[in-house]
Amino acid sequence: MHTTTIIGLEVHVQLQTKTKVFCGCSTAFNPSNPNVQTCPVCLGLPGALPVLNGEAFRLAVKTAMALKCAISPYTKWDRKQYYYPDLPKGYQISQYDLPFSEDGFVELEPQETPEGTVPGRRVGIIRAHLEEDAGKNTHDETGRGLDSQVDLNRAGTPLVEIVSQPDLRSPSEARRYLEELRLLLTYLEVSDCNMQEGSLRCDANVNLHIHTDDGHKIATPIVEVKNLNSFRNVELALEYEEKRQLEQWQKTGQKIGDVAKETRGFDATRGVTFAQRGKEEASDYRYFPDPDLTPVIVSETYLDEVRQSLCEFPADRRKRLAAAWQLSSYDVGVIVGQGREFAEFFEEVAQLGHDGKQACNWVTQDVLREMNERGQTIREFPLRGAVLGNLLNRITQKQITIKSAREVFATLLSETHAGQVLSAQNIDQIIAEKGLALVTDTGAIDTAIAEVLAKNPKIVADFKGGKQGAIGPLVGQVMKAVKGADPAAVRNLIAEKIGQM
Ligand code: ZN
Ligand code: MN
Repeated sequence: MHTTTIIGLEVHVQLQTKTKVFCGCSTAFNPSNPNVQTCPVCLGLPGALPVLNGEAFRLAVKTAMALKCAISPYTKWDRKQYYYPDLPKGYQISQYDLPFSEDGFVELEPQETPEGTVPGRRVGIIRAHLEEDAGKNTHDETGRGLDSQVDLNRAGTPLVEIVSQPDLRSPSEARRYLEELRLLLTYLEVSDCNMQEGSLRCDANVNLHIHTDDGHKIATPIVEVKNLNSFRNVELALEYEEKRQLEQWQKTGQKIGDVAKETRGFDATRGVTFAQRGKEEASDYRYFPDPDLTPVIVSETYLDEVRQSLCEFPADRRKRLAAAWQLSSYDVGVIVGQGREFAEFFEEVAQLGHDGKQACNWVTQDVLREMNERGQTIREFPLRGAVLGNLLNRITQKQITIKSAREVFATLLSETHAGQVLSAQNIDQIIAEKGLALVTDTGAIDTAIAEVLAKNPKIVADFKGGKQGAIGPLVGQVMKAVKGADPAAVRNLIAEKIGQM
């Protein structure tokens, strides 16, 4: 017997507009001042009328384009009825049968890792629609019987709901999909995808296909795990469900269709999912078109305009960087995965330093390490790409050694105060102060080599006799005589001179 895990994800992403989707209230994250960002529209007062925020729709269209979805020329708004304290209207404005976009995909490329290759997967997107968020209820968890509270600051914030096909096959793959989705949406600047602030929330649908030894395939009942608030929790909840559903099937023999679809929560402290309620069917919500809002008709001109405003997608950037700088898929994965500004930083360094692999090593190792130690983003990092590129170009041009460049890099960073931006002049200063410039005066080097060879006939003879290691002390002596010479160049010159003797 073996099992296959079938996972589909529903992701709610908050769009980064200044104001809410159907009124002019601020969308700022403001949990310490509840209910101040509200108005008759988002409070659901009688007679208040919603008006669509054009920017929210534009960001939603950008999102759908990035997901390779088809954008519908005609879309409308529907009321999804349910009753909850954080939903004062008694319905959520959403989209039902005519979502503004459907049928796209997210491509997960095969990944090289130290443990081997992780296979790629094309994850289908069933639909992406625009809707409003509800408010937030807080319940007393102290056991002291305090009141529950409702904050409607968030009510009416624009959300795009992205529904994937059940194409994901493992908890770790689900996590990869979410990481790629977050990268894509932050690249496009449609959302900050901040999970602590609830800007990206995930529900996971999961069941198992059990292939028995006698050739039968049995599907277990589908379970929806709600409100997973971190990628780690998505992975843990799904891993737990894999075990639980198999055990449940072994105990009861229940398969899909035998019981209603179940909604479960995830308790991160105990690492378990728990039953919440039977899942509503779409018909329970009594969807109907919202008579307060006009349908949206999308023209080709409008779509062209939005398309023009898109940036390069992460997947395309990975391909372009790999080809332009002969980098491995692992390297470009690290660079692009750090976000758009980091990738742009890398490109500047590579272009000015004229060496992609060298730029990659510095940016993914030295720069990332320093950023993490300082708790800085690439935007806050005191060394701009232009300055680092300039420094690396001096290695390429054989003006300084890699070792000296590291010294300049460390000195630059250690002498920087917060907010200071460094320039190439700072590099010149440090090179001069520390005497790091490579001596390119071949006359001085030639003289020193001639003297050292004359003084060390025994070593020269050893080297000629095939002892490669004998050259080390000779290089050392020449380096001592000519401070700042390039040791590799000196080594080559010595070998060449001995060869001529
Ligand atoms: Zn409002
Ligand atoms: Mn939704």
